[in-house]
Amino acid sequence: MMKTLLLLAAALPSIAFAQGLDPVALRDAALNDTLAYEIIEGLTTEVGPRLGGTSAEAQARDWGMAKLKALGFSNVHIEPFLVKGWVRGIETGEIEGTNPRKLAITALGNSGATPAEGLSADIVLFDGLAALKAAPEGSLKGKIAFVTHRMARAQDGSSYGAFGPIRFVGPSIAAKKGAAAIVIRSAGTDYHRNPHTGVTNFEKGVTPIPAAAVSVPDAELIERLAKRGPVRLKLTLTPRANGPSPSGSVVGEIPGSDPSAGIVLIGGHLDSWDLGQGAIDDGAGVAITTAAAKRILDSGKQPRRTIRVVWFGSEEIGGGIDGDAYQKAHTKERHAFAAESDFGADRIWQFNVKLPEAAKDVTARLATALAPLGIAPGKGEVEGGADVEETIKAGASGIDLRQDGTRYFDLHHTPDDTLDKIDPVQLRQNVAAWTAMLAIIANAPENLGQTISKK
Ligand SMILES: [Zn+2]
Repeated sequence: MMKTLLLLAAALPSIAFAQGLDPVALRDAALNDTLAYEIIEGLTTEVGPRLGGTSAEAQARDWGMAKLKALGFSNVHIEPFLVKGWVRGIETGEIEGTNPRKLAITALGNSGATPAEGLSADIVLFDGLAALKAAPEGSLKGKIAFVTHRMARAQDGSSYGAFGPIRFVGPSIAAKKGAAAIVIRSAGTDYHRNPHTGVTNFEKGVTPIPAAAVSVPDAELIERLAKRGPVRLKLTLTPRANGPSPSGSVVGEIPGSDPSAGIVLIGGHLDSWDLGQGAIDDGAGVAITTAAAKRILDSGKQPRRTIRVVWFGSEEIGGGIDGDAYQKAHTKERHAFAAESDFGADRIWQFNVKLPEAAKDVTARLATALAPLGIAPGKGEVEGGADVEETIKAGASGIDLRQDGTRYFDLHHTPDDTLDKIDPVQLRQNVAAWTAMLAIIANAPENLGQTISKK
């Protein structure tokens, strides 16, 4: 009997929602969107940088609550969690010796501190992470490990996958080998004298050492000097680990008409690094997803599935703790689908989708709706991203609307992540793609994914 009812319930929506949201009309109207830009402009101007676990992030949550309420979303609330707090202090660096130079340098998130008067030591140069890993135990005692690389621009951002690990794990490896400190060439692709910050993680039991990134031109100067003889650096870094600190995500919804069909989870991360304004990373992501959802809300047609917009907290310093916290807090809810925007605001060029075999037709409908925006289907796996990957792993379907990442790592985690880097035309293309996607996914009559068992 139960089975018959479920089958009936699954069959009904295809008729009930056939006349629902029109992805094509919604998509085309979204090409004139102004809301996404307004959100980024407001967030970067009225709040600014908002590092996870700080009062600036708390202010951003209040700003987000007020914004989502004003836009008419339902059930707007904050979901609090704790993050290991860390704040930047003084940061200076110089090359010592007969030809002293000042370095454009910044501490990596979770970096340890030098003594207040600074730390001077000779460098040992490594070309890449493999070379650092191969250094004999204890060989770095009293030295500064300097790790360089050749990260290059790539449309799909894949160079971050290749060279990012130098930042993610290099400092912990150097610490274990006895280094007094580590300096890396920024995980960036620009030739400005902007260092790129970002989180690093020290293994359990490893005491954090001072860990910093220099701008690409400074890194190349150090490399050239190292060819001529020993290089000695002086670093003064005084960041502070703050222990458990309040963070949280801001949530708003468009309630769907069919609770059994599951939730469509979308969003970006509200927190940002502290050097810039958090425009491309990730004011853009919360803005694009919110503006797209607002278009569904304003269509006057209730979607079948609840659309839940989340402005995640502490994605950066928490290293993905936000997505874990969200999924843990929502294990009892069925999530049908999840997607996030966290790769800037440049145009979407490709999509990858994860859907059950029985929902294959949804992929075809997405391809048709996205093609006029210059977006082609890809063959890759859905990655999801740090905010929603746990929900996808738990069984939700998902989509990666892949943005052009060619210039993303010129700006990523630098003081240059500012509002003026947002191209309004490309931003609107993003909103149009997300709007069309939501119209199709939120109303799909097919069974999509699910994060809890039906029992
Ligand atoms: Zn981000």
